Formats: sequence, structure tokens, C-alpha cells
Amino acid sequence: MNWGFDDEPLSVAVHEPANAPLAPASIPRHPRRSCDCLRMLDTVTVLTKGGLVLWSKAYSPSVPTVQSRNPVDSLVRRVLIEDLASANPEQGYSKDSYQVKWTFGNEVGLIFVIVYQKILQLAYIDELLEAFKRLFCSLFDAKIRDPDALHSYAEFEQKFDTLLGALEAEDAQKSKRKAPRKFEDTKGYQNTLAAQASGEKAATPDATTAGAGTAPLSEADKLDEKLQALGLGKRSGGKKGTSGGGRKTPQKGPSRSGSSTSLDSSPRSEPKAQRSWVGGVASTVAATGGALDYSDSAASDAAIPSQELIGAHLGSRGHDGLYDAAEMDARESDDDEDDDASAVTATPQKSGGIFSFFQNLTAAKTLTREDLDPMMAKLREDMINKNVASDVADHLCASVTESLTGTKIGKFSSLMKAIKQNLEPSLRKILTPKTSTDLLRDILAAQAANRPYTIAFVGVNGVGKSTNLSKICFWLLQNDLKVLIAACDTFRSGAVEQLRVHVRNLGAVHPGATVELFDRGYGKDPAGIAKDAVSHAAKNGFDVVLIDTAGRMQDNEPLMRALAKLVTVNNPDKIIFVGEALVGNEAVDQLTKFNQALKDFSGVRNPRQIDGIVLSKFDTIDDKVGAALSMTYTTGQPIFFVGTGQTYTDLRRMNVRSIVNSLLAK
Ligand code: GDP
Repeated sequence: MNWGFDDEPLSVAVHEPANAPLAPASIPRHPRRSCDCLRMLDTVTVLTKGGLVLWSKAYSPSVPTVQSRNPVDSLVRRVLIEDLASANPEQGYSKDSYQVKWTFGNEVGLIFVIVYQKILQLAYIDELLEAFKRLFCSLFDAKIRDPDALHSYAEFEQKFDTLLGALEAEDAQKSKRKAPRKFEDTKGYQNTLAAQASGEKAATPDATTAGAGTAPLSEADKLDEKLQALGLGKRSGGKKGTSGGGRKTPQKGPSRSGSSTSLDSSPRSEPKAQRSWVGGVASTVAATGGALDYSDSAASDAAIPSQELIGAHLGSRGHDGLYDAAEMDARESDDDEDDDASAVTATPQKSGGIFSFFQNLTAAKTLTREDLDPMMAKLREDMINKNVASDVADHLCASVTESLTGTKIGKFSSLMKAIKQNLEPSLRKILTPKTSTDLLRDILAAQAANRPYTIAFVGVNGVGKSTNLSKICFWLLQNDLKVLIAACDTFRSGAVEQLRVHVRNLGAVHPGATVELFDRGYGKDPAGIAKDAVSHAAKNGFDVVLIDTAGRMQDNEPLMRALAKLVTVNNPDKIIFVGEALVGNEAVDQLTKFNQALKDFSGVRNPRQIDGIVLSKFDTIDDKVGAALSMTYTTGQPIFFVGTGQTYTDLRRMNVRSIVNSLLAK
């Protein structure tokens, strides 16, 4: 990858690995500069499926040890035990500023975990994880299979360091090369082959690397060779699927969609299905693989899905001919259930439910605050379990208590109804937009006024800003608008290249459309780049400028100041906050602090605030829809779109009724 670092980085304090002598600020922008001494990882751990840590090494002293904040503890609790739907080994799991990647050694009952800073784009992590597993399993096969005795694995430390050093060095070499990688070396190519093979027989993992008429080494064999060359481990003799090499081995068992994160499930993803291009857009591209050709991309390993550009949920055109995103799926209301007795005895759903607690209450009496308190405590807990932020849950419970105190409830079903009747309008009120969500109308008005409409996308790292910006771009292109994407994340390595890939993909699915990238590389002032982009757009007849900004934690003052400056200098038509549907209390914290920073650092009398929200990763939360409520409650602003996946059509309009139904469901 061409990292394009031509200027000094912004001065921002980031995590400093324990033995990294480089200045902290240079880490994200020069991650591969000094491989002999730089350690990008925070911790590496081998633990048993029973939770016993066999071996662990910390490269950073700053990883929280408090159980609730420790990334490995969190992985075990949230992902492995609670089976968090959104997490899978392929994507990893995010805990605060950490990224956690793990793999299972199913045959030996071990879990291998690597923790590093989310902000770092470590291209070698998957290979390292696999090599880590293979090395550990091959070195300690006998010890691992003798769980009754206590063994020392201390000697592994030096071996792991050798392995890590080698992969970092290799990666540093790769990043120095100016020439783009060959397409054959890219993930996109391998995915393409896998996709093409699907539909025939089940693709074997090695098929992704097979060339015509040759019998190349499998990834596992290549890794074994690499370990051997480093004087580590031993060749497995091509015995796949043993000693933790199962990741590349075709596996039986539950599919990934059934969540591959439980302790016993397979960590391996299914081969990607051949993309189906719908809606008449570029229907032949997938067949030829043309749009998947990232060979001229310096960012071929950027963290975007390369296969499924277009999903099944294309929007539709209204009478006015305008294209709009589809509305999100409606969830069934259970309004009718609560009057009948069967509803009272219905089995609660897996997550419990807001109303399951009340099933025990049958007495007819005038309700006092004391009667309601424990019930409200349960209601609060159930809301929080659905990701409603605690402040918001408190507010709602207080309002229900207020309304119900002193009322007489005849029977349980009436109580349920009373609570729902009280809660529902409050939920609706919070969720119903008070300002227009009709961005198209505003854009067309700007077009008529001969000026580009500008939208800035803000949010913390990794929430899906670039992906959802690109989905919105798709939606705009469907409406024949000319779009300029301004690459104003001048901080995160690879951010510009990632957008470039999106722009190329979007151009491929909309032949003839105008979509361009405006970038000035890294390290420069994002406010100035946005300004130049807007003038460029005005001069060249673009209708919309989508401004991508660097992800930033809400407490990072230098970056928040930079954001406030970008907003003040450019006064975008809309400031859209992209937030993950996965968050609970964090939603309120992020939004409050983003708004506060815009206010505090703008230096103007009437500072701008967040105008609306894109709620990303909604496809990963089941019925835990509380973030939608928390975000609209905190800002008083609408959810413009809901991100429901990783294709350009996975962008939906929010359905208030659906969210309310999910929140009120038993
Ligand atoms: P950014 O750092 O905020 O720009 O985040 P990215 O756009 O790079 O997205 C981070 C990850 O989230 C990528 O792997 C995306 O594919 C993924 N992602 C973004 N939006 C969604 C979504 O709506 N659903 C799911 N499942 N994944 C998403």
C-alpha cells in the first residue's frame, strides 16, 4: 500500500507501545517505518476455552487490567459467552480504543487473542494470528494435550517475538514498495476466485490461491514454510486441520450467520457468494470481475468489502422519479397480544423483555410509587439490555412512574397495557424527526441555487463513516447527482486510499455518473482541504460534496478542535454523526461531547451542532435497538439513514414504529 505520507502528522497523542521509541504521534502515519524495534501490539494471549490463560505477553503497560475494561476479558464475556451477534473472528471485536482479533484452535480447545490499537491498520494481523496459533500448537502439542498438569510456556515469548519481528519487517518492506500490488496478490482476487468457485462445488480454501495447471502451496503450508525459515516450529507435513491449523480447513457445523463466536462454533467464514447485481446496475460486472479489479489500487487491502457492492435491498423510485432508500424492515407489533391471557404466559424471548417481569404481578390495587419502583428498576434494566442509554432509561421510567402513581390497575394485562400506553408515545415522540429528513429536497434546492450542497460526516473511529458516506453517495448517484468526495481524514493511514476504492466501485456500478475524489494526502489541515474541495465542486458543477473526516474519540481535544475548525470554516449544510447501533451509554457520551466540542472550539457566537444521524451496523444488533432512541433523545435530531450491512444498498430509512415495537416487545 502506498501510504502517501508526505507531510508531518497532526499532533495528537496516541497510545505508545511499551518499547517503541518513536514519537507517539508518528505511529499511525508511519506504522511500518522501523520494524526492528517497533511493536504495534498491546497484548497477545493464549487461553483455554475454559478461560484459563496459558500464556500471555503485554507489549503495552497501559492496557486496562480492570475486568470490565480489559479487552481480553471483554472478548470472553461479551463475545464468547454472551455470543455478541456483531462480533466475528473475521472482523474482530472492538473494545474502547482496542481492536481484538482472535482465532480458535478448536482441536486443542484454545483461543488465541491479539489486542492492538484500533487506529492502527495492521495488514499482517490475520497472518500473525494464524502463525501464532500454528507455532504455539506445534511447539507445545504434548503439553496442551496434557491439561491435568501445570506447564510453563515461558519459552514461547522469544519465539513469538521472532515471529512478530519477521512479519513486521516483511510488512515494512511491502509498504516501502511504491508499485501497487499485483491483482493476483490481493484479497479481492482471492475473494473473486472464491466467489466464482461457489455455486460449483464447495470451494476449498486452497482454491483461492490455485493457479492454472499448478499446485501452489496452501496458505497453511506457506505459513509453515515461513515458520521453518525463521527457525520456528516444524512442518506439519501438509496435515491440515490439526494443531490449530483448522482455520483453512473446510469445517462442518454451524454457518457463520448462526454466529461463529460461541466457544464451540467454527471460526471460519463461508466462501463469499457470487455477487448479484440488481436493479439493472452493472449486471455484467460481477461476472467478468471487472469491478473487483483493484489491481491499480494502492489500497487493495483497505478495510472495505470488495465483493458485495450491491445488496438485495435496492431502494425504489417515487412518482417524482426520485430514488430513495428502502425503509427498514417493520417489526411486528405485539399490541394485540397484551390483552389476552396467552400473552401473559408467553415464553419470554431470549433476551428477556421489558414486560416479562410484570407477568408476576396480578393484584388489583392503586399503584403507589413504592409499588412501581421495583418494576421500574426492572423496566430500566430491560431497556438497558436493549442498548438504551441509562440516562434515557431513567428519564422514561420517571415519566412512566409519574403517570401511573395513584392509578388503579385491575389485572396484570391492564398494567402491561397501561405501561405500554404510557411509554409508547414517549418513545414515538423521541424518535419522530422534528426537522426534515428530506435531504434530496434540500440538495435540489441548492442545485437550483447553483451551489454545491455539503455534508460533513463525523464520528469516532471505525463506526462506518466512510462506508456509509459511500452508501449515501450511491443513493445520490442513483438520483443523477454529481458527487465530489472530499478526503479530509488526513490522519488515519489508508483513509484516502479506502475512499479511492469506494469512488472506483461507485463509478463502476454507475457507469457515466460523476463521482470523484478530492484529496490532498495526509497530514494537511482538513479544514483547508474541505474548503478547496467545495470551491473545486462549485467551479466544476458538482451538486454535492461529501466530506469524510477523521474518526476521533470524543475526548481527544486536538482532533475535536480540528473538527470544530472544519465546521466553522466550511459551514456545511449538514453535519451528520455516524454512530454504531451497538453502543449503549457510549452513544450519549459521544454525541454530547461532539456537540460540546463544536460549541466550545468553534469560536463563533452561534456554533453549529450535529444535524442528524446515520445509525450504522443496525444489521448486527437483533432487538437491541436502544441506540436509536438514545441518539435521537440526546441530540433532538433525526436519524437520516440506518446502515444495515456492507453493500452500497444497505442503507435504509428508519421506521419509527419498528423501533418502538422492538423496544416494547416482550
Ligand atoms: P470509519 O473508520 O468510521 O470510516 O469506518 P469504516 O467505514 O471504515 O467502517 C468500519 C467497518 O464497519 C468496515 O468493516 C465496514 O464494512 C463496517 N460497516 C460499516 N457500516 C456497516 C453496517 O451498516 N453494517 C455492518 N455490518 N458493517 C458496517
